[in-house]
Amino acid sequence: MDFLRPDTLAEALTLKAQRPDAVPIAGGTDVMVELNFDHRRPAALLDLTRIAELRAWEVAGDEGRGGTVRIGSGVSYTRIIEELGERLPGLAMASRTVGSPQIRNRGTVGGNLGAASPAGDTHPVLLVADATVEAASTRGTRLIPATEFYLGVKRNALEPDELITAVHVPATGAPQQFAKVGTRNAMVIAVCSFAVALHPARNLVAAAVGSAAPTPRRASAAEEFLSAELTSTSQWEKPKPLLDSVKRRFGALVAEAASPIDDVRGSAAYRKHALSVLARRTLDWAWHDYTEKVA
Ligand SMILES: Cc1cc2nc3c(=O)[nH]c(=O)nc-3n(C[C@H](O)[C@H](O)[C@H](O)COP(=O)(O)OP(=O)(O)OC[C@H]3O[C@@H](n4cnc5c(N)ncnc54)[C@H](O)[C@@H]3O)c2cc1C
Repeated sequence: MDFLRPDTLAEALTLKAQRPDAVPIAGGTDVMVELNFDHRRPAALLDLTRIAELRAWEVAGDEGRGGTVRIGSGVSYTRIIEELGERLPGLAMASRTVGSPQIRNRGTVGGNLGAASPAGDTHPVLLVADATVEAASTRGTRLIPATEFYLGVKRNALEPDELITAVHVPATGAPQQFAKVGTRNAMVIAVCSFAVALHPARNLVAAAVGSAAPTPRRASAAEEFLSAELTSTSQWEKPKPLLDSVKRRFGALVAEAASPIDDVRGSAAYRKHALSVLARRTLDWAWHDYTEKVA
């Protein structure tokens, strides 16, 4: 197996163009598991850990309005939690639930996107935050909306010569929540997960499910129902405690958005039930935060 070690992004992109079969390795917390279990035997590994450009983050746009945070694909979960927790609360919440401190020190958001596991914890929050994935090759750079990035189980929209260079996440300053159900509290792959983000500037609620379909996905009917309900009752301007009937309907529509399978981690029926509970619970938390903000 060849081990390619570029020092710069330009060098990495040239190598990927020459060797599209080379498997990128960032933190290695997915790649090394696959190699160790002999699930994958690539002809070459492309080590991205020397590339400083991939380990940086910056805020673009109007910082007064929060701007958009461009997070290099090699930024670890630990750094997202410590350095971006206030700007991107949803992503930080999801990052806190990943693995253990060791995994969070090594694992990266780019690696989560590269693996494109339906159970990856960052995906639902990237979907509700309207994030875009930055992909680069020697042919140029393009932005892929998160909603178009996940194509199937462990399949994403990258071309063979492309690398993920960053993810762009708008920092809205509005409440976001993430929750996951696992067989225990830590070091666990999600049985199912859920993220919700309020977008008061657009009178919108965004909701997404993880580990409950071949790809992470938005729960569009739930979003439309709740956004319409909050707008028609003028609650964005004057928030009130949400009616139980509204929360239940939202939870039911979130569960309907999922198409889970029965597997060793849980049954499809359990996943749907758990999602409806997570949706009601996280909506309550987000709405409580919003009510306090507006008051
Ligand atoms: C013990 C353990 C616990 C875990 N717990 C969780 C958990 O709770 N939640 C969770 O979501 N995940 C979990 N994981 C999975 C893993 O930690 C995450 O998916 C992590 O984000 C992978 O990041 P990485 O940098 O280590 O990726 P790597 O292993 O380096 O790469 C992962 C994939 O992405 C590709 N890739 C990496 N960087 C790029 C790039 N820049 N461009 C294109 N492709 C790229 C690689 O080729 C590979 O296919 C766990 C793993 C372990 C071993």
